[in-house]
Amino acid sequence: MTGSTNNKHERHGAGWKRIPSMSLRNRMAFYYTVTTAFLLAVVFAAILLMVDRIVYIHFDEELRHEVAETLEEAHVKGQAFVGFESFRCIDGTEEELDEYKQRGKKKDADSEFIQVVDSTGQMVRKSVNLSRNLLTFNPAYSGVRYFNSFVAGEPVRQVQVPLVNSKGIADAYLIIAVPMKSAMIILLDLQNIMLVSFPAVILILFILTRAIAGRSIRPIEEVIATAEKMTQASLDQRIPMPHNQDELYRLSATINALFDRLQDAFQREKQFTADASHELKTPLAVVKGTLDVLVRKPRDIVHYEDRIRYCLDELNRMARLIDQLLMLARYENDTKNPNIVKVEISESLHSVISRIELLALEKQISIRLENTPSGTVAADPAMLEMMLENILSNAIKYSPAGSSIEIATSRRAVHLVCTITDHGVGIPEEKLQKIFDRFYRVDESRSSSTGGFGLGLSIVRKLADLQHIGISVSSTRNTGTTFELTFPAL
Ligand code: ADP
Repeated sequence: MTGSTNNKHERHGAGWKRIPSMSLRNRMAFYYTVTTAFLLAVVFAAILLMVDRIVYIHFDEELRHEVAETLEEAHVKGQAFVGFESFRCIDGTEEELDEYKQRGKKKDADSEFIQVVDSTGQMVRKSVNLSRNLLTFNPAYSGVRYFNSFVAGEPVRQVQVPLVNSKGIADAYLIIAVPMKSAMIILLDLQNIMLVSFPAVILILFILTRAIAGRSIRPIEEVIATAEKMTQASLDQRIPMPHNQDELYRLSATINALFDRLQDAFQREKQFTADASHELKTPLAVVKGTLDVLVRKPRDIVHYEDRIRYCLDELNRMARLIDQLLMLARYENDTKNPNIVKVEISESLHSVISRIELLALEKQISIRLENTPSGTVAADPAMLEMMLENILSNAIKYSPAGSSIEIATSRRAVHLVCTITDHGVGIPEEKLQKIFDRFYRVDESRSSSTGGFGLGLSIVRKLADLQHIGISVSSTRNTGTTFELTFPAL
């Protein structure tokens, strides 16, 4: 990852706190590994505990079996413990004693140890393999108890069983123990294997996760690389789309769409600057050329007056253009917020009509207010009048002398709708959508001859957007044009 990762922030309490930088792929690998390490530790511990438990269950089972067998043998031999050198066969024959002795000798150190103690803990009898050792007796245990102990320093599992006489009193205890050394070694080995394998597994996991995370976030690297390469001059760069239609695919698509919009906006800005400078250059060149010609030789006063008036007209056009450009810039940058209040539509219309009356009179165009437009709308009064003035002056500009313009208001559901209809040249259908674009003129020659720059309607559209007024236009060539303003509900 690049330097951009150095600015990583972490939400901490109410504010943003800087944390030491760690690349996204390392962080993903780290969190994944920590979680897995925790789970693995729990699983390993559970396995160890279970194996431990199973081992003891088996030992206890074996001890239970040994106790049963020993008691059975004792019963068979009339309460005597036979088969061990230190035991005396009470009721058995000498042959039987020999047989048990042979069997007892076979018992090596790994077989069970048997010992009988009296109620005071004094050893009564014990198996040969115990030799000099004794099994631990615990007088506190009244019932059958299984516990761990040691014989000659080796671990054993032991059971202590009270031997109850006919009166129901425990006058002796049978203690049997089995060696646990080999089981303990296995348990210890298992524990060691787990302890050694745990960090190894975690390390391998971290390396693998880091590699996988790196692969998964490669499209992000491409986003960063593309964005870094992007300059105003190379806005046509796009992020290659990943194959899988996942979140990264959506991210790439969203960023590419953003780049499209940016490129569009830059293109429009470039076009706007080019158009604006072109429009300003023309009257400037005209004025300069006229003055250049004028100073070359003396001329009569009428000629001077005519040329100066011509220059003044051009300068006035320039001033109008600059005014419109400034207005657009102000509204485009949203530095001028609309001051929305309740406005009586008829008042705005009357005030606009009184301002453009002269223009209409020059062409003997009558402006008719149909059904006495009335109604209150939510708008910025100055902005609304500017919109109406632009639309009405266009209607006058593009209508033949002697025609009429009708203004009407009506209600459409909760909206007040104001229509301005003229009977002029009209606008071809395919150009209707473009008339709101900056510097767009349907008929260049006619429009510039009437003094238009193609900015009036783009200002109207901007003002309408700012006040949430809907604007639409319908037109028929050589029949007329109707502009419709739909005001937001009050
Ligand atoms: P201009 O200042 O050139 O009139 P506008 O932005 O006001 O610029 O209008 C853009 C174009 O839309 C004009 O050049 C004109 O061709 C066309 N237009 C606008 N209003 C009308 C209308 N009422 N009748 C016919 N054409 C119109």
